[in-house]
Amino acid sequence: TQNDFIAEYLDYRDVYLDIILDSETFARAGICETCQSAEATFNCVTCTGDHGWCRPCLIRSHQSLPFHKIQFWNNLCFHDVTLAELGFVWYLGHGGEPCPSYGGSEIYGYQDERVDGVTEAGSLPQDTTPVTVVHSSGVFTHNMSWCCCLGSNPHHLQLLRAGLFPASSTRPRTAFTFEVLDHFLIDALECKTSARSFFEKLTRLTNNAFPDSVPVSEKYIFINSEYQQYL
Ligand SMILES: [Zn+2]
Ligand SMILES: [Zn+2]
Ligand SMILES: [Zn+2]
Repeated sequence: TQNDFIAEYLDYRDVYLDIILDSETFARAGICETCQSAEATFNCVTCTGDHGWCRPCLIRSHQSLPFHKIQFWNNLCFHDVTLAELGFVWYLGHGGEPCPSYGGSEIYGYQDERVDGVTEAGSLPQDTTPVTVVHSSGVFTHNMSWCCCLGSNPHHLQLLRAGLFPASSTRPRTAFTFEVLDHFLIDALECKTSARSFFEKLTRLTNNAFPDSVPVSEKYIFINSEYQQYL
């Protein structure tokens, strides 16, 4: 019965708590697991297992995982940081690789107008734009690097080809993954979730302490779910 399950659990409660508290420390502190030279300061809470990367290795290992949630270890505790803040660029048009029309470009870099407003030495001579991407696990802002090859698609179609439904076809600054649109339709069907409640859930998944700090309005959820029903 339910009581037996709880009685069984109580014998192990302290052990469970110890293991959960242990996971709050940086298990892979020390040297970066990939380059084996720089100091490891980042962990990913979305990847399974314990990891420790330096910044460049973290970005490279997450080039196709833009919705992973990253933590920075300050030698005492973890802080939430975003891939975009760390220099991640989402390349469009070439299967995740930088557009060759820009010339020899690095897999990550810096630019003057980044989503966090940080300016650093170095250059990213690419046409990047911050775009708010709404996904099932939260709201992310990513620096999009557009394909600028001769005859390339307009920005809204480049987003769509990358699996992101643009909120606007003129100057898209918000886009939705197909996963979050499907998720919303099923939530509305099975749980009678309103667009507002669904959006509030996403803002809390993004930042439970300050949900109002999350950009994007829920009216977009309405608009996009309408669009999708026409597809
Ligand atoms: Zn490294
Ligand atoms: Zn990860
Ligand atoms: Zn291109």
